[in-house]
Amino acid sequence: MTGGPTLVFALGSALVLLCGCEAAGTATGTTPSTGTDSTTAHAPTHTVDELLGRFDAAAHPDFSRIPDAWTDKDSIYLRTEVLDAYSRMRASADSAGIPLLIRSATRNFEYQRGIWERKWDRPRYMGWSAFEKARDIMTYSSMPGTSRHHWGTDIDLCEFENEWFETGEGAQVYAWLTAHAARFGFHQVYNELGSIGVDGGGRTGYNLERWHWSYMPLSSVMLADYNATVTCDSIQIFPGHQVADSLDVIRRYVNGIDRP
Ligand SMILES: [Zn+2]
Repeated sequence: MTGGPTLVFALGSALVLLCGCEAAGTATGTTPSTGTDSTTAHAPTHTVDELLGRFDAAAHPDFSRIPDAWTDKDSIYLRTEVLDAYSRMRASADSAGIPLLIRSATRNFEYQRGIWERKWDRPRYMGWSAFEKARDIMTYSSMPGTSRHHWGTDIDLCEFENEWFETGEGAQVYAWLTAHAARFGFHQVYNELGSIGVDGGGRTGYNLERWHWSYMPLSSVMLADYNATVTCDSIQIFPGHQVADSLDVIRRYVNGIDRP
């Protein structure tokens, strides 16, 4: 960004006017069919609460607890289908001498709000506008209600530092993942940011994250559901939620991913 907060704000507002920050389905997917072709409509299979992380994974029938030996966290969960795929990937990595450790998996809205509010209160943000603060936090962290970690389809592996994946064991892990993860359905959605922007085809949103891997067979369905049902009005309540639409958070961040 080179235009500074004021220009960005104006640009963001203009985009909101253009895009309406509405659910994509209202614009493209719900036109009544006049014939037998109903393939343009996307019928969501997940509730808005699920998409926003407003649920308890421990009590949800579609989720399973990650075995303690596979993670350094207590009691974290993935959708069972995702955990099954990860189990196969982990076994394959293990047989190749590649150690994988899950550092984070499903995080619900309340957990993400805790992360967000801790960052929001940083002393260095003294005097910043809500827009500037939110945009800075969103270099790496999601607004509550907009994280792929709400969906139970995404995992963080090994280390939260891109540099770790560049040398030694980290480089071996990364080389293995980039060569083999796709076979098991996993993809690194936060690759290098595009220099052009979403309209020119480059990726927008969060910075490079070599640790974040998504189970695409399911997360692509969750994203389609999200685009069909969630609007900026759904994303609340926490400090700064009012700037969700001026940041164009659904288009630039939730949809700011690399696709296989
Ligand atoms: Zn992550």
